[in-house]
Amino acid sequence: MPDSAPPAPPAAAGCLVHVAVNTPAHSAVGGLLTYASTQPLPPGTLVRVPLGTREVLGVAWDAPADATALPPGTAPRAVAGVLDGVQPLQAAWRRLVAFTARYYQRALGEVALAALPPQLRDLTPAQMARRLRRPAAPPVDAQEPAKTIALTAEQASACGQIDSQPGPFLLYGSTGSGKTEVYLHCVQQALATAPEAQALVMVPEINLTPQLEARFRERFAPLYGEAAVVSLHSGMTNPQRLKSWLAAHTGAARIVLGTRMAVFASLPGLALIVVDEEHDASYKQQEGARYSARDLAVWRGREQGAKVILGSATPSLESWHASSPEVGRYQRLHMPSRIGAGELPRLRLVDMAQQPRGAVFAPPLVAAITERVERGEQCLVLLNRRGFAPVLHCHDCGWKSDCPHCSAHQVFHKSDRTLRCHHCGFAQRVPRACPACGNPDIAPVGRGTEQLEEQLAALLRNVITPERRAARVARIDADTTRAKGALEEQLAQVHAGEVDVLVGTQMIAKGHDFRRITLVAAVQPDGALFSSDFRAPERLFALLLQAAGRAGRDARYVAAQGQPPEMWVQTWHPDHAVYAALRRHDYPAFAARQLAERQEAGMPPFAHQALVRADARTQEAAQAFLQGAADAASAAALPGMDDVFLFPPVPLAVQRVAGVERAQMLLESPSRAALQRFLAAWQPLLHAERARHKGLARWLVDVDPQAI
Ligand code: ADP
Ligand code: ZN
Ligand code: ZN
Repeated sequence: MPDSAPPAPPAAAGCLVHVAVNTPAHSAVGGLLTYASTQPLPPGTLVRVPLGTREVLGVAWDAPADATALPPGTAPRAVAGVLDGVQPLQAAWRRLVAFTARYYQRALGEVALAALPPQLRDLTPAQMARRLRRPAAPPVDAQEPAKTIALTAEQASACGQIDSQPGPFLLYGSTGSGKTEVYLHCVQQALATAPEAQALVMVPEINLTPQLEARFRERFAPLYGEAAVVSLHSGMTNPQRLKSWLAAHTGAARIVLGTRMAVFASLPGLALIVVDEEHDASYKQQEGARYSARDLAVWRGREQGAKVILGSATPSLESWHASSPEVGRYQRLHMPSRIGAGELPRLRLVDMAQQPRGAVFAPPLVAAITERVERGEQCLVLLNRRGFAPVLHCHDCGWKSDCPHCSAHQVFHKSDRTLRCHHCGFAQRVPRACPACGNPDIAPVGRGTEQLEEQLAALLRNVITPERRAARVARIDADTTRAKGALEEQLAQVHAGEVDVLVGTQMIAKGHDFRRITLVAAVQPDGALFSSDFRAPERLFALLLQAAGRAGRDARYVAAQGQPPEMWVQTWHPDHAVYAALRRHDYPAFAARQLAERQEAGMPPFAHQALVRADARTQEAAQAFLQGAADAASAAALPGMDDVFLFPPVPLAVQRVAGVERAQMLLESPSRAALQRFLAAWQPLLHAERARHKGLARWLVDVDPQAI
């Protein structure tokens, strides 16, 4: 205990230890500092050390290869205390952290400390001791018979392969094909191999963890006790996070369920990692170290000898390519059939050119929704834009509701009469008249979920359900779910059948098991077809197929109702290849086409990318920094340079946010290793360049960026 230890003697008495601490980002210090200790500290030991005027948490680290004595004349400060009772973090964990820092170009200490629960830092030694002493739930000694479902042939085949092959595996299975059941089965197998074996199961969204947790708890609490299953995600309080983290670290938890941050959980017995919905963009962290939890899962699995299963109905093109026979890095397992659910919904493409001008909802779609609601079925209407309208406009003088701080419009929110910027959060009351010319007649242009909800309610106002009540339209998006528990409550209403038509953003398209939804409609999905981001079609296809998967999940219900489920898409481009593939639910055809295009254009996964972003007071300053850094790289003829192509600096699509100008520079290379070599060598030049540009607010590197 630090408080019972003798007062720390001056440095000379003990030995030197290297400690990973979170020094402010981009400081010249890489994150390992040298401290003096009275006793040798094994790498991985959690310590408290002085840093400037503060005392901070640190992790004793392996001596770096180039460890040298301190600069002459400097004496190391002494380690202030050791977190006794917490076992040192394993070498495998330290390697994961070191790899992440190196690969994503961040300081080691920053990554290490961000991977630990914040409360570790705040607890006094006495509090920590109490927490560790807290008795774990007694182990279940009488093993109850495991509650298992008889696997289908497809599931059994997938499980058999996973059992007998090394992986990593890409489990490509339709929505409702029983992927979760495969995860449960494989977790059970993995845990049975050794009493200390652990499994990590990741999902993209916090709001999907409760459902998953319930399913895992039901299966594994009878076998291993309630304490064996824990969650780990950013929606938890700090004490909850610490509790889960300690349970995983001590081995008391056998199964950790979590979002992307869980990839860094300390799991000494890790035997299996599952990444569900592996294509989901939320596995990529968007600040600090911009890591991909999916990619790190694969790396960690290989390092720590754990099997890895990536699962999806619409795999990322990266994973799909990696699992192709030509590449063969992943093993592809296919489960095409839906269990207990009928056919996937039939696609109905509505050509908007054939509809009345300005119609938000095509009349045939309104008729179809009406029919479903009158039969007591539920419908889901998707639009990926919240608010009432994306902009207000004055037809007299051309004024638009621009955000004063961003190069973006302020979105009109009708319910609270505000104009809100979705980039910087700036909000204002809606003006009574045009601020430029006084015209009282300013009009919303375009549409958001709020408007859809209002219009649908009006269109369906005379529609009566079989229970003889008026049709109910409800909306779920980021605006309606801000309050804690609001989402759960709204979802419960849908499940209870109190809602007939659910309007919302992509939030409602993922994962939810709505039993009575038989019609899904995407109102305005075309935007993504012509986006400048080459991943937009991939995301659109995944979203629409996911959304389609919400319809007709209960085959018996569908059969009883007598009308097959449908997916409606309103489009101006009914002949587009994306929709043609969607019509046949043909992900492989879609993927093959996209991959051919990407290969042709030399884009990922056939090339590797990184972005350098700069934020500054002016666009010129931001771009000057990037250009300066590029010039410095050529002048220094950095290693890897011959294989790396640097594009010229350009403004971001939304160029100014909260008064800050943003620019980026894309780097591309056919070789991941060359790009990595180049980035590592470039890092010091970027730091040096920064000092030359006074107007620069910050810069960052994004390796394998998700959005260009
Ligand atoms: P996915 O994760 O692929 O969407 P799930 O694992 O959630 O699919 O399975 C879909 C539905 O089928 C669930 O209600 C699940 O309980 C059920 N199910 C899965 N496997 C089986 C099985 N082998 N036998 C019976 N029902 C199953
Ligand atoms: Zn005006
Ligand atoms: Zn703004």
